[in-house]
Formats: sequence, structure tokens, C-alpha cells
Amino acid sequence: MRLTTLILQVFGLLTLLVSCGKPTQPNVVVIVIDTLRADRVGPEAAALTPYLGKFAQGAVSFDQCHAHAPWTLPSCAAILSGVHPAEHGAGGNLDAGMRGLGQDVGTLVQPFSQAGYDTHAIVNVAFLDKTFGVTRDFGGLDAVYFSSNTEVRRAAPTTQAALKWLDQERDEPFLLFVHYFDPHAVYDPPQPFRRRFAKDQDKKDESFVFGTRKHMMALRAGQLDLNPRLIGRAEALYNGEVAYTDAEVGRLLDGLSQRGLDENSIVVITGDHGEEFLDHGGFEHGHTLYDELTHVPLLIRVPGKEPKGVSQIVRHVDLAPTLCELADLGPLESFVGRSLVGLMDGTDDQPRPVLAQGNMWGPDLTSYRSAGWKLIRAGDGKQELYNLSLDPREQTNLAASDGEALRRLGQQLDLALRGMAALGGSNQVKVTPELQAWMQALGYGGESQ
Ligand SMILES: [Zn+2]
Repeated sequence: MRLTTLILQVFGLLTLLVSCGKPTQPNVVVIVIDTLRADRVGPEAAALTPYLGKFAQGAVSFDQCHAHAPWTLPSCAAILSGVHPAEHGAGGNLDAGMRGLGQDVGTLVQPFSQAGYDTHAIVNVAFLDKTFGVTRDFGGLDAVYFSSNTEVRRAAPTTQAALKWLDQERDEPFLLFVHYFDPHAVYDPPQPFRRRFAKDQDKKDESFVFGTRKHMMALRAGQLDLNPRLIGRAEALYNGEVAYTDAEVGRLLDGLSQRGLDENSIVVITGDHGEEFLDHGGFEHGHTLYDELTHVPLLIRVPGKEPKGVSQIVRHVDLAPTLCELADLGPLESFVGRSLVGLMDGTDDQPRPVLAQGNMWGPDLTSYRSAGWKLIRAGDGKQELYNLSLDPREQTNLAASDGEALRRLGQQLDLALRGMAALGGSNQVKVTPELQAWMQALGYGGESQ
């Protein structure tokens, strides 16, 4: 055999081996929609979120997914680190100051980059910038935020940034994280979504927006008149923002399809927390652990997996091990959740109680939620207990009347907390004047700060 023929044959064999290894590695796209309540997605919300509804028909829909915190920083940190707020350290509150992700905390991104994935994040809020550490492991970070919450990068340019990244020179497989901010206050939906969802409320003033710094400062000072008419109007505008974001997520999903990426891409869509519209007499998020703030949509589309609905409770910490398993990568040892693949395949029915914690304002709270019950414990020892089977809206506090359930849930909560320790590393965040201006624009921090 001539030497050149031999070299060509060896080269061909090597190429075959390399190409045999590649197709098994799927791309992963994680889409987090800020402030998206669970009840805004699904058959009953088809008019509001038709694109997410269509996507759900080809995905596994987790009807009971819960976040671990009621605001962006600790919740997104739990999604990406696969551990609880007390473990990853990111969070804080308006009184005690803000903390970033502990320096020693690993993230979901690490096993993907170690396996050669191209990793990239597109985010629209300072809490997800490198300052707070949550997205520090991504190879590329496109973080845009302004000093005013009224000038955020909207959903359309966010989708555009994602499509542009998909079109430019990049490697496969890839892990792409896309964060949409629009349903978060300020509520100011563009047309035609405003007309479609807030027309009735706009008869007198079509330029009205809600959730400006003035509104949020008044809210946190207890000086905002939370009358149902005003909050109803705010909710209509919020719905317009949700519908607008749905259309733009739809455009990103269509973009994936048009680029032939559907067949080898896992797509996850979730919210980081919900929003309150007087469900418990309050407004916005970050201040309670009731379901309107912790219950979020979770849709996962995996090529080759049958679409189905899953009614068991699942948690954001389960996502990181799930994505590692689906991509055939070893999970980080620190991950505390359990992969959802068994639930998708119908081979796992172990309960997954949810521990949530970390208010941004208001009382310090921790909650423990099982399938039928929720216990909420405040830092001052006050407890609330709800039988979710009979009282899914958490309106009747049974703490004083059902001592047996209170003891049982209390023991379970204590047990969950006992196994939990901060993973370590300094995580104090230096608040720059720019960051301070941004936080003030959101109503985080007073005039004098
Ligand atoms: Zn958020």
C-alpha cells in the first residue's frame, strides 16, 4: 500500500471517529422570562401566550415547578448553580445589602465548558451581570442594563441578539442562556399588545405606565394606595408585556427551527419568579413566599422525547442535573437537585419538596412546600401553614388550628435546613455609583443612599 493511501485511510478513520462522537452532544438553550407567573402559560392562557402554548405541545410541561426565591438574583443563582440560596449565597435585602454568588460555588456552565461547549449568556438586569457572579462561567456574556428601569433592552432586541449570536461564527455544541426582562416593572407594553390587553383601562390615558421608581418607592414605604382598580390596571399592562415577550420568544424559537437547530437542541423555558396582584393584599415580588411568587412555568423540549404533562412538584435546583444528564455530562458534586429525566420517562415518582427563602424586602422568610402543604416561617418565629389540597390560594392559615401538621412540616423544614451550608467564598458586592443609580431606578434603595 502506498504511503499516501495509508495516510488518507487513517485520516478518514479519525474523521469518522470524531464525527461519530459529535452528534450525541445536544445544544442547550435556556430561556428565563423574568417575573412570569405560572398561570400566564397553558391552555387557559392561550390568548395571552400562544407561542409558549404551541411550544408546550411539543415539550414536557411541568405544571408544578417552584422557584427557590421570590426575586431575580437568588432565583437565577439557584437555576445556574443547582443549589439553594443559603448555599449559593447570592441575594441579600434592601436593609442588609446585596451579595453575589459565593466564590467557591460551581455552576451548570462548568461541565458544559469542560466538555467543549461554546457557552454564551444574554441578560438584561444588573443582578445577572458579572458583578454578582451568577453568569461568570459563561464564555461569552452580553449583559445590557441601563441606569433607569424604563430603558431596558426590550424583548425584540434581546431576540435579535440571540439570533445574531446563532448566526455568527461559533462552535457546536453550545449552551445559550437568554434572559427576557419585559414582564418585570415598569409595565409599558408596546403596541399592538397594549391595545389588545389594556384597552379597557386606557380610555382616559394611553400613556399611563406602572411600576416607575416613584411607584416602587411609595410601595416599599407602604404609601402606595393598592386599590383594586389601580392594581387591575397594572395587571392589564403586565399582561401586555407577557404577550409581547411570548411573541419574541416565539420569534427566537422560529429562528432556531429555521436554522435547522431544532433536531439537536434541548430548549428549556421557565420564569425566575412570579408577581403579586393583590393575591395576598400586596403587589410586585420579593416580599413573600406564596405561590403567586414561587410557582413558575417550566417547559423542556428534548428531541426524541414524547411531549407530556407532569403534575408532580419539581424545583429549579433539579434543572442543572437534568441538563447534565440529557447532555450525557457528569453533574457537579455540589448539585442538590435530582434530574427530571426519570419524571419525563415515567420512572421516578419520588417527592421533591421545595425549600424557598430570601426576600428582598419585608420579613425574613423560609418556606417548605410539599405536594399538599406549605409552611412559611418568619425570622421572628411567626408561622403560617396552608393545606394546599383544600386551599390552593393559601388563604386560611392553619398554624393555630392544626398542631400535628405544623409539627410535621416544621420537622421537615428543620431537617432540610440542617443539611444546608454556605458553599463558601467571599461574595460581598461593591455597589458602584452606576449600580446604585440602577437600583434606585427600580425603587431598590432610598434617596439618601
Ligand atoms: Zn426576576
